[in-house]
Amino acid sequence: MDIILASSNKGKLKELKESMSDYKVISFAEVLEPFEIVENGKSFKENALIKARAVYEKLDDKSVVVMSDDSGISVNAFGKEPGIYSARYAGVDATSEQNLDKLIYNLKEKNLEITPAFYTAAIALVSQKGEFCVHGWMYGNVINEKRGTNGFGYDPIFMPLGFEKTLGELGDEVKKELSHRSKALELAKIILKSQTFG
Ligand code: IMP
Repeated sequence: MDIILASSNKGKLKELKESMSDYKVISFAEVLEPFEIVENGKSFKENALIKARAVYEKLDDKSVVVMSDDSGISVNAFGKEPGIYSARYAGVDATSEQNLDKLIYNLKEKNLEITPAFYTAAIALVSQKGEFCVHGWMYGNVINEKRGTNGFGYDPIFMPLGFEKTLGELGDEVKKELSHRSKALELAKIILKSQTFG
């Protein structure tokens, strides 16, 4: 069973492909011409389903499973923002660096050196068997300076609970153990197995 990933975020694709080594995983850019997907859902779940559905509808081969990931970081002190707006926090075409810099700027504005935050990942699966969505979370704190270069996105300022280092400083293996994406993927794999053998 082939899995088509409905994402063009390089950091996500790397993590998803590494964790799905039991499957043949292809990113949608390898099989479809680029097209715009309007992520206008009100939750991670809605946006994950919008992405997976949009890609599944474009594919001729309906025997595949399309998997998408909608994720983001929420800062408790900011009313759980940026949340679903994590990828466009600093504007519609903002880079990851600009989004990260905006969050650091806002933390400094509020004199917050370290404050609780969490990541959410919603993973959607769309196939002939129907539509499914699962979630995973990772709790911790954000700090107002970048540390380390591992991971992607907001990782240089996120310290998982129980650690005094950011995901930028901790290795990929630690992130794989703890991450919102890994937790959601474990659930997604259960659904995938049931789709294959059920
Ligand atoms: P999406 O592609 O619309 O789901 O946007 C995800 C946003 O959340 C991007 O800005 C990512 O950088 C950020 N994000 C999601 N997961 C992670 C993660 O594991 N580490 C760092 N940033 C993440």
